[in-house]
Amino acid sequence: MRIPLIAGNWKMHKTVAEAIALVEALLRGLGETSDREVLVCPPFTALHALEPILRGRPIALGAQDVFYEAQGAYTGAISPLMLRDVGCTYAIVGHSERRAIFGEDDALTNRKLRAALSHGLRAILCVGETLAERDAGETEMVLRRQVRWALEGVQDVGGLVIAYEPVWAIGTGDTATPEDAQAMHATIRQMLSELYSVEAAAQVRIQYGGSVKPDNVDELMAQPDIDGALVGGASLTAESFLRIVGFR
Ligand code: PEP
Repeated sequence: MRIPLIAGNWKMHKTVAEAIALVEALLRGLGETSDREVLVCPPFTALHALEPILRGRPIALGAQDVFYEAQGAYTGAISPLMLRDVGCTYAIVGHSERRAIFGEDDALTNRKLRAALSHGLRAILCVGETLAERDAGETEMVLRRQVRWALEGVQDVGGLVIAYEPVWAIGTGDTATPEDAQAMHATIRQMLSELYSVEAAAQVRIQYGGSVKPDNVDELMAQPDIDGALVGGASLTAESFLRIVGFR
C-alpha cells in the first residue's frame, strides 16, 4: 500500500519567524495522520530552526533542492550531508523552476537525485511538460526522457517519490483534470515497471503538482495512481494546506 504524501513547497517565501509560525499552526491543526504523510519544504534558511520543533512530530522536513557533492568548493551550494545534519529526510530535485530559471538539465538532476538517495535522503523527482510540449503532443516523450535520465544509474527506487507537475499548471490556477493526471501517472508507473519491475513500480509514490487547492484536491486524490500532492502556493497558509492534507 502506498501512503499518500502531501508536501508543501514553500519556494522563496517565509522568514525564519514566519516559518516557525506556519509550522506551529500546522501542528496545532493537524489531526490523525496515520493514513497520510505530511512534509514541508521551507527555504534553506529556516531548516535549522524548524528541526527541533518538528522532531518527533507528524510533519517531515525537506529541502527544495540539493547539490550532488558532500562538501567542497561549491559556492552557494547545499549538500545532502548538510541537509541530513539539519533534520531533512526529503529533498526535491528537478523542480521545473530549477530547470527553467536556473538552467538545470536532466544530467544535473540525475547527479542530484543519486547524491540525495546515496546519502539517505528521500528524493522527490519533479517531471512535467511545458505548454508548448503538450500542444505539440510531446508530453509522453518528455516524461519518458526526464524519468529515464534522472534515474540513470539508480538501482533502488526505495527512497524515490516522483512528482508529476505539468509546467503549465504550476502557479497558474490551471490544473490537469483528474482523468488526465491519472493517465500521466499511470504512464509514469508503466515507465518505472519497464525500467525496474512491476513490483518496484507499484511501491513508488507519484504525487501530482500544479495548482492543487482545497477545492480540487479530493477529486485528484481519488485517482488510483495519484499518491499525494506537491503543493506550492496553497501550502503557504495553514488553513489551505491543512484542508489539502485532510483530503477525503
Ligand atoms: C510547485 O511549486 O511544485 C507547485 C505545484 O506550485 P503551485 O501549487 O503553486 O502550482
